[in-house]
Amino acid sequence: MPRISSLLSSINDTSDDGWGIFYKALEMKDQGIEIADLTIGEHDVKTRPSVLDAMTDSAKGGHTGYAVGPGTLALRGAIAQRTIQKTNVPTSADDVMVTIGGQGALYAAHKACLSPGDTALYTVPYYPTYRGTIRATGAHAVPVLTHAEHGFVPQENDLRRAIDETGAKSLLINSPNNPTGVVYPLETLQMIADLCIEKDLWLISDEVYDSMVWDQPHMSPRGLEGMAERTVSIGSMSKSHAMTGSRLGWLIAPPNVIEATNALNMVTTFGAPGYIQDAATYALQEDPAKEDEIAEPFKRRRDIALRVLEGQNVIQAVPSGGAMYVFLDVRATGLSGTEFAYKLLEKHHIAAMPGESFGASGAGHLRIALTIEDSLLEKALQNICHLGNALAQS
Ligand code: PMP
Repeated sequence: MPRISSLLSSINDTSDDGWGIFYKALEMKDQGIEIADLTIGEHDVKTRPSVLDAMTDSAKGGHTGYAVGPGTLALRGAIAQRTIQKTNVPTSADDVMVTIGGQGALYAAHKACLSPGDTALYTVPYYPTYRGTIRATGAHAVPVLTHAEHGFVPQENDLRRAIDETGAKSLLINSPNNPTGVVYPLETLQMIADLCIEKDLWLISDEVYDSMVWDQPHMSPRGLEGMAERTVSIGSMSKSHAMTGSRLGWLIAPPNVIEATNALNMVTTFGAPGYIQDAATYALQEDPAKEDEIAEPFKRRRDIALRVLEGQNVIQAVPSGGAMYVFLDVRATGLSGTEFAYKLLEKHHIAAMPGESFGASGAGHLRIALTIEDSLLEKALQNICHLGNALAQS
């Protein structure tokens, strides 16, 4: 039988990706057991009806044919306007390439910026597709660890060492961060920008949680001096507008990247469906306060989590400033994140992702997706603390 490409077979490796918990929880649900499911980063609300109306109106109006190219001018203009509002960085429709989800943008960005055999860095803990996305482009994916003792914020010496040792051509960062909920401070973004300029790196900045930042306005490294020409910002309607299934994302980048990703588009997707693009345009032209409405429950639940965790000395919360998650440090129980997650599922019927599934420096942690109703979340967090205390005493 002919063999499969070595490149694509390298996307997945054999390490446990943490989905074991998810599937075990599914099995238990099938047996009729009620599970508090804190595994998946997906809203507990659906796409707004007005946006769905815009989608069907567009489809019924005939926008169901090929929508070839970088995206409609109207949508790229609306994305540019939103970017200006959020980041104050001058942006035009020409700087925008529409993709199939933020995931499509992550792949296109790496494909555009790296040649086969180049090294691409990514920070750890990481969103689990990162390694495979980089490998699928033919580049080497090299992790740069961030650590609990630094609040999971990248440190200059770690980045500098990784760049010098590998001759990397790009760095992928994600703030607000999945899985930690950490938002990088301006000094960190500036340090990263200075390094990218000094070492001539592309910065691929995953900003899909830019509407979910709790304690300050969103900051994009693209706005820092000298960075617009070497930054690819990744955005998406998934999180900001509860449109995960519509698969509508984008990248904002200098002209050579837009041109290259448009060429890639022609040999992969051809472009996002026209009626989805029209629905996204409509959603972006609605009152921006609607984005805050979608984000608000996650801030409220982050606050609930911090309140429940306050004063706990076994289970500790990593200071979270955004996204849909809190990251809990369970190391004082003596268990790994994975062991703790299985015990939690067995004893309290709570499913949460072990930190190990987000890379080495996530070990001994648990990611809590703030995606269930407030009172259930509060109860689940209390039970997590009970389990932590019981384990620490045993
Ligand atoms: N980046 C991060 C950090 C994410 O958490 C996700 C989705 N969970 C994505 C990118 C991809 O989002 P989408 O393709 O739905 O836009």
